Amino acid sequence: MTDIPKYKLVSRQWKNKKTIIDVKGCKIGGDDLFLIAGPCAVESEEQIETIASYTSKLGIKFIRGGAFKPRTSPYSFQGLKETGLSLLKQVSNTYDLGIITEVMDLSLLDTVYPYTDIIQIGSRNMKNYHFLKEIGKTDKPIMLKRGMDATMEEWLLAAEYILLGGNENVILCERGIRTFDTSNRNTLDIAGIALAKQLSHLPVISDPSQATGNRDLIKPASLASIAAGADGLMIEVHNDPKKALSDGPQSLYLEQLGDMMPDFAKVAKAVGKTCSWSHKHEIVNV
Ligand code: PEP
Ligand code: MN
Repeated sequence: MTDIPKYKLVSRQWKNKKTIIDVKGCKIGGDDLFLIAGPCAVESEEQIETIASYTSKLGIKFIRGGAFKPRTSPYSFQGLKETGLSLLKQVSNTYDLGIITEVMDLSLLDTVYPYTDIIQIGSRNMKNYHFLKEIGKTDKPIMLKRGMDATMEEWLLAAEYILLGGNENVILCERGIRTFDTSNRNTLDIAGIALAKQLSHLPVISDPSQATGNRDLIKPASLASIAAGADGLMIEVHNDPKKALSDGPQSLYLEQLGDMMPDFAKVAKAVGKTCSWSHKHEIVNV
């Protein structure tokens, strides 16, 4: 028998059957390419309503949007907080969308918990081990971003902390790492997506938005992620990216997202994945 790695519960050696997370009718880590789209941050009722109305017509079942934002500068927009959560709930009810939003700190878990279907743990918190241990006691699926300075092993060990807490529904999210090359915001570790899938039974998704920082690179980064075996994509999109309060340069225009989705479906099909959203998408585009 091969040696069991340090990240035991997360490893393929421990569980040689892929973990499929069933949430809001989506089977994350299964055959279907899972899509999440939405703004970096919830900014207003008009903003989230316009975006949700569009993305739901494309057949995208999950909306993202930060209500509590981890910003590098304390002077930058910090999120609408509880108001942002209520706005997410509002569009979730109107368009039957699942919600993913970040829990930045243990003290915010009780506030965010009732609103979200998947708990997002940000890159900056991937090494907050006490937080990971405690969040592992919750019963909602958790999406764990890769730390921007984390090795593959550190990332998988961070997931191990969550599984040890009792929660096995963890989704890994590659969002780019910092390298010597600053021409992109981060460096999207495409081979890392393939490697994480080989080493672990957990679903792996890609966030080309934080990885590239540039809306013109979202399409190639997404296609490459799908080709590398990603189980899904989480993409930032905005109704008016030039006026976005955070991450405008990497946010797609709504139409751009619609335009690139048929190509997502082509590459997905080539690597043996299905796209349940593509039928609806075709109807919208005729
Ligand atoms: C985000 O998804 O908007 C975000 C802040 O992500 P990360 O934690 O990967 O920087
Ligand atoms: Mn962002």
